[in-house]
Amino acid sequence: MEFADFADRVAAIEAETADLEITSLVADLFVEAGDDLPVVARLLLGRVVPAWESTTLDVGPSLCHAALARAAGPNVTADDVADRLAEAGEIGAVAESLDLDGQQGLAAFGADGPDSLTVAEVAAQLRDLATASGSGSRDRKVDLLFDLFNRADPLGARYLARLVLSEMRIGVGEGTVRDAIASAFDVPVDAVERALQVTNDYGAMAVRARDEGEAGLDAADLEIGRPVQAMLAETGTAADAVEAWERVAVETKYDGARVQVHHDPAGETRVFSRNLEDVTDALPELVEFAEDLDVPAILDGEALAVDDAGDPLPFQEVLRRFRRKHDVAQMREEITVEFRAFDCLHADGVDLLDTPLLDRRDHLSNVLAPVDSDAGGLSPLTVAEDVDAIADHESRALEAGHEGIMLKNPESTYTPGKRGQNWLKRKPDVETLDLVVTGAEWGEGRRANHLGTFLLSARVDGDDFATIGKVATGITDERLAELSDRLEPLITEQNGTDVTIEPKVVFEVGYEEIQTSPTYESGYALRFPRFVAVREDKSPADADSLARIEGLVES
Ligand code: AMP
Repeated sequence: MEFADFADRVAAIEAETADLEITSLVADLFVEAGDDLPVVARLLLGRVVPAWESTTLDVGPSLCHAALARAAGPNVTADDVADRLAEAGEIGAVAESLDLDGQQGLAAFGADGPDSLTVAEVAAQLRDLATASGSGSRDRKVDLLFDLFNRADPLGARYLARLVLSEMRIGVGEGTVRDAIASAFDVPVDAVERALQVTNDYGAMAVRARDEGEAGLDAADLEIGRPVQAMLAETGTAADAVEAWERVAVETKYDGARVQVHHDPAGETRVFSRNLEDVTDALPELVEFAEDLDVPAILDGEALAVDDAGDPLPFQEVLRRFRRKHDVAQMREEITVEFRAFDCLHADGVDLLDTPLLDRRDHLSNVLAPVDSDAGGLSPLTVAEDVDAIADHESRALEAGHEGIMLKNPESTYTPGKRGQNWLKRKPDVETLDLVVTGAEWGEGRRANHLGTFLLSARVDGDDFATIGKVATGITDERLAELSDRLEPLITEQNGTDVTIEPKVVFEVGYEEIQTSPTYESGYALRFPRFVAVREDKSPADADSLARIEGLVES
């Protein structure tokens, strides 16, 4: 396909505003693209190479302006191009408006004679440009780009300029390309979607849909070295999780950066970010970690910055390491990164996307068995059946300085790129109340010698308090013993296992919602209250008042 024809079609797509019409124009283009189909599918998304390849064009504005100026002739400088850009607001319009013909390019006469420039040639030349490196590579890039501009017609120049600066913006997103592939080659959208999630290669999957149909798409496999989109989480509560799945897989939520580690014992290790960027070179300790693995594997997890004691550092610290290209060794001295592996997508020749979580975790443990590394390890998982057990895990995670917990459906398969209901992220509540302890209940079983459940009250007037709920979760055994010792001397009355406590101690309590309720004197109840801390700095007179709580409910 001539690049000029491609540019005409792209202009028509850009001018269209109705989504369905855009999809249909893209589908028509796919049907007619012939051998150029993979390149066309990528170019529409503004990509020269598949998103996950480590090759990048690395063309900045100044290089693009220099190439445009040269193609426009001796009367135009790179500064003129920048001035025009300031006026026009986008590089495509500038490139289109310049008179770019007539300069002698590297290969001004293509195989089909003067001025012919095909889509395939553009793709090949941009690939050369992407791989140019080392000394003199800037000049070489300017040469290659100049040659393309020189041979392009005005519309072609418009899209070339946008393409090299990653500013395609023609209203075609990944969803449009997915739908267009399905419609062009008469295959189910779901099959295209799954194949794209597994491969992330729009070009290759368009070809597969055309040449092999649904069966070909279904056969798309994971490949070590080619990243998969990460499965994502929704926000949710412990109560939601218990209700939905009965058994809940609870993991620590690390405040780091998502990484996917691909390892082939016979080949190499690559590490990818959540955006599928290759970040291997920035994180050598993850490569060293993977060297101990003795089977091919794809691991999902979090890269976490830690201090000398191994305690977690905030997210910003890991970011300082993440995309670093220079001085990696020096930064490594400054910030230590560990890998916490929580999932396994491929182990020893077997794809595990359709395998339930707990079985994937078995594979993960097996794969990690030979690893003996300071640079991380298996992230622990516990299976909980009630909110208390979940709260225990959460208290431990928070006490260890982590961000919170993740709740996962033990039966769920791995759905790449999906923000689904099978993974729930639970961060600590932002909302807390300071409430007075006015009663308690003796515990049961292993907690029989301790006060277990604490009755909480809001301040009404002066020395008056109105009950609003009970808190029993979020308290570790150790903390429970402490609280019991502290509150026992304040018991004023006992009735069975229930005790009344003199209002002296203030608890900070997190909650998910305040509901109206006939159960408590205040007329309100806290939904899923959790112990956060004893407010040593507050007396009952400083506790939250019922008036404030009424205000919160109203707002
Ligand atoms: P958020 O970034 O708030 O949407 O939370 C989801 C992110 O939490 C994931 O993309 C991971 O980077 C991160 N995360 C930390 N620990 C875990 C874990 N145990 N399981 C899954 N994701 C985790």
